[in-house]
Amino acid sequence: MARAKKNAKAKSKSSARKGGATTVDVIDGEDVDYGDIAGDYKQDNTGNFWKFTKPKHKIRVLPFRDVAAGRVRAYLKEAKHFGAHPDHKLLNCIGKDAGCPICRVANTVTDKKLQKEYRPSVKYLMNIVDMDDPERKVQLYRAPKAIWSKVMDIVLDTEEYPDALDPADGIDFNITKEGEGFNTSYGAQPAMKRSACNFTGTIVDLVARDASFEDDADYEQIASEMVTG
Ligand SMILES: [Zn+2]
Repeated sequence: MARAKKNAKAKSKSSARKGGATTVDVIDGEDVDYGDIAGDYKQDNTGNFWKFTKPKHKIRVLPFRDVAAGRVRAYLKEAKHFGAHPDHKLLNCIGKDAGCPICRVANTVTDKKLQKEYRPSVKYLMNIVDMDDPERKVQLYRAPKAIWSKVMDIVLDTEEYPDALDPADGIDFNITKEGEGFNTSYGAQPAMKRSACNFTGTIVDLVARDASFEDDADYEQIASEMVTG
């Protein structure tokens, strides 16, 4: 009895998709728990990324060479869609202004939960050194916008902090995190004195790294199957 009920629910969900005839019920009546998927992703995706382990850290941001473009960058903006792919694969956001089909559909959705699943998660990837790390290893940090913009304000204040990103004579950033979830607030302040950062490990070309994740998904097809009601 319970099973029949579940199936009926799944059926109504798939028929709510546009072009329902092409939708295969791959999950056989099971509801998809996006919280579970987000948990899996978080676990698999943050293992190699630096993150806050206390309210305040001192970090250094190291610039990287974008070999393909032949120039130096401080960060890479990264936007990914989590909930749009029917098999829950991550999709690189092409960019709202560049006509990303997933963003186009996401912006027509009124349901708050669906919006959250469909809208791209935007982070700013940087090579950093945690100055408390005795090995001073280079690590990757997926910074939220609030940290990124505050750090960049300092980096771009070239009068007060010239060449802040110089590993040999640059600026440490005291970054802070307070609260959790929607009530999280971030801060970044420059250290008083310039210093050398003798790091170990390799600075990653983040543009080349990102290019290695290119997917061949049919974005228009995926967009046409997204639930919008
Ligand atoms: Zn997008």
